[in-house]
Amino acid sequence: MKKNRFTKTITGRSTISILLALLFVAAPIPSFHFRGTRAQEALSIATTGRIDPVELHQALLDLGNPFTVMCVAAHPDDEDGTTLTILRHKYGVHTVSLFSTYGEGGQNAVGPELYEELGVIRARETMAAAAIQGSEPHFLGLKDFGYSKSADEAFKFWGHDEALRRMVLELRRLRPDVIITNHSVTNNDHGHHQATARLELEAFDAAADPTRFPEQLKDGVNTWQVQRLFVRARSNPNQTETSGIVTFDPMERDPVRDQIFAEEALHALQQHATQGPWPRTLAEMTARFSGSAEGKLPLIRYRLTREAKGAAPLPPDPKTVQDGLRLPEAETAKLATPTIGGKALTDFTDQTDRLFEALIEARKKGAFSASDADDLQRFRFMNARFDHALALLSGVTLSLSSNDSVLVPNRTNSFTINLANNGHHPARVHRLTFAGWGEERPVQTADQLPAGTETTANTSRITPRSATFSVPESEHLYDGHLFGERFASSAMVEIRDARFSVTTEIGREVVPAVEIKNADPSPFVWTPRTRNRPLAFQLQIANHLPEQSAITLAIASPDRHFNSALNLNLGPNEKRDLLLEANAAPGYASSGRRRAHRNTDQVFLSVQGTSSKAIITQRPIPVVYADARLARDLRVGFIPSFDTTLEKALAALGVESTKVTASDIQKGDLKNYGTIVIDNRGYEAHPELIEVNAKLLDYVRDGGTLVVFYHKSNEWNPDPRRNRPQLAPYPIVLGNERVTDENAPVKFLRPRDPLLNFPNRITEADFKDWVQERGLYYPKEWDEHYVALLATNDPGEQPLNGGLLAASYGTGHYIYTSMVWYRQLRAGVPGGYRMFANMISYGHR
Ligand SMILES: [Zn+2]
Repeated sequence: MKKNRFTKTITGRSTISILLALLFVAAPIPSFHFRGTRAQEALSIATTGRIDPVELHQALLDLGNPFTVMCVAAHPDDEDGTTLTILRHKYGVHTVSLFSTYGEGGQNAVGPELYEELGVIRARETMAAAAIQGSEPHFLGLKDFGYSKSADEAFKFWGHDEALRRMVLELRRLRPDVIITNHSVTNNDHGHHQATARLELEAFDAAADPTRFPEQLKDGVNTWQVQRLFVRARSNPNQTETSGIVTFDPMERDPVRDQIFAEEALHALQQHATQGPWPRTLAEMTARFSGSAEGKLPLIRYRLTREAKGAAPLPPDPKTVQDGLRLPEAETAKLATPTIGGKALTDFTDQTDRLFEALIEARKKGAFSASDADDLQRFRFMNARFDHALALLSGVTLSLSSNDSVLVPNRTNSFTINLANNGHHPARVHRLTFAGWGEERPVQTADQLPAGTETTANTSRITPRSATFSVPESEHLYDGHLFGERFASSAMVEIRDARFSVTTEIGREVVPAVEIKNADPSPFVWTPRTRNRPLAFQLQIANHLPEQSAITLAIASPDRHFNSALNLNLGPNEKRDLLLEANAAPGYASSGRRRAHRNTDQVFLSVQGTSSKAIITQRPIPVVYADARLARDLRVGFIPSFDTTLEKALAALGVESTKVTASDIQKGDLKNYGTIVIDNRGYEAHPELIEVNAKLLDYVRDGGTLVVFYHKSNEWNPDPRRNRPQLAPYPIVLGNERVTDENAPVKFLRPRDPLLNFPNRITEADFKDWVQERGLYYPKEWDEHYVALLATNDPGEQPLNGGLLAASYGTGHYIYTSMVWYRQLRAGVPGGYRMFANMISYGHR
């Protein structure tokens, strides 16, 4: 009797699962209570057992390739997506990708998030892309501080030795046989790319050298010799060069997925949505490269750049990067791919019974079993592949779920493990385990799982009182707690005397019992006009407990000038938006004494238990004063692009402002606005602005001031193919020059110009404490009607004079600026506010 007590028959699986889920919310009833009725039902049930043919083909193909190829890239979306896709989908290579950074210094084409918040999104995008490529992503977690022009600049931030240490550790852990990369030490591109290329070359040798980073050589980490390093050959290649060259054809068709490989890779690339817009179709992509939608993408070529001493030579006319590599003879024999009558398993995907038979027999004969002398890690991933193929063919599946969407310290979370046998053969369950919080424990389960039945087991874990929160995610990009805690379950199953394991895992964020999910604005910026407005924040508070929480929400400053508290009763799992206002305005400290130019204070938002007084969570918010004055009676219209920086900055300045759309402009009634501001990349974010641009210029001619923030050159320069005329009243042509050093000296070309003097006298101090960079896509040519006001350049380069251009047009004024004011406004840099105040006040008194 005992053997079936945890087992039930599979009927209408989804209904049962929902039923179970509901019952377990109400009370943790052990699963065997359901067994009786279900197991009595006829065994004719169940087994749809349909195996996804693509997944099966991949699983079988994977059994034949014991090599690991690593793609190294500086940023998400730099990976060689097409090659990774071909290596896995055509050759079954174990593919991993290693990224130096999370790409948090880049731009965001789809949302307001920048910096660490962007890094979190890009990590997710990379995982989604990797799932399509069939590769595993890994990150070194070096900081992406924005565009840099040289490897040396990158190493100044990263620390050369620290960056190398991390890369060596990943090579020793992941043990790639071959490295491929897009980055070359000789390419004159992004400094992160050049630095990553240098690290690869150094790590190639250092990972194999026991005297380098010897402290890493423990807990199963050993030295590792990569055999080959290939660097992508750039355009204009010497086509006759063939020795040491491997080419891949992106236009080749994947017969299994019935798609061109480049199409699969494009689908992966599109996951990097923040870096878009990407081509929507393969035709659009080929048109970009070849000028015609029917054209072809060029061959992808790699040059063999480094080989290990004694590495197997690349054969002439190699098909792929691991061609010719050999494992030691004993390992090759043990890892011999099972076949059916000497034919590849992939020839039998329509005969799953024969395949299952063949794999069961191979496992019984000890296929893929290693001895101590072997490369155990290689055997481990090959065995995991073998297990996966067997599980797929057997119809045995394991799933893990939790009713709790998050983990709260000192609370118990319950997990449900479902082991199902959708196949034709009875299975024995030797062991079921659950791992979490660094501990793996057995879970009680049925020991027999007849065909067409499933068993459900429950287990629970208490989240340690000392568990580190993993939210907000942006604060955990580098500390190893990104995306919270992983939980895994594993079952050892036996069918017809062959054993295999099935595993699955899920992740959950660790959160405070009551979380401040959002606090806006941060930083809080105040100016002379807003000094008497009380400090106020728009908050979102989430109660993560399934019961009511009585909390006190407080704003406090270290000097106790601000000390406001609000008692709240939050319902079970309630999320609430509210405005929390302090009992004082920020201007208190400025009276009677002159403020330092950049004076950053802080207030703390905190959540406390109303009765316990214990602090549940706390969030510091910088409070910044910017001495930015404005022209009188100003009304500003603004056209935001990707975030709310403009809106918040105008509010902090205390100017009356309104969001303007293209249709407002079309209607033509802009007289109410003294100034209109177009946010960075505004013509890209709102292409419809191009059609109404003439009306915007009329508005300037009739006395308005138009301020246009930076655009990329390909989003701005006249382009008949995109129906884009010159957008400025007098020509401005953008180039691709940048000033990446945010501390680069700024020279005043026209120190007396009103733009630099009214209402705020701009000085060098206004260019202190900038973030990220000075500007990008600087104009390379501009009409003589413009005056150029500021010059700046990166160390050792020629000055760029076009960062701030102003012209009179009719009775109005036009300003184009490629400097990154939006980053300074967002970061609360006082000088940014002062100059922005001058721009919107230009032409007004
Ligand atoms: Zn990059």
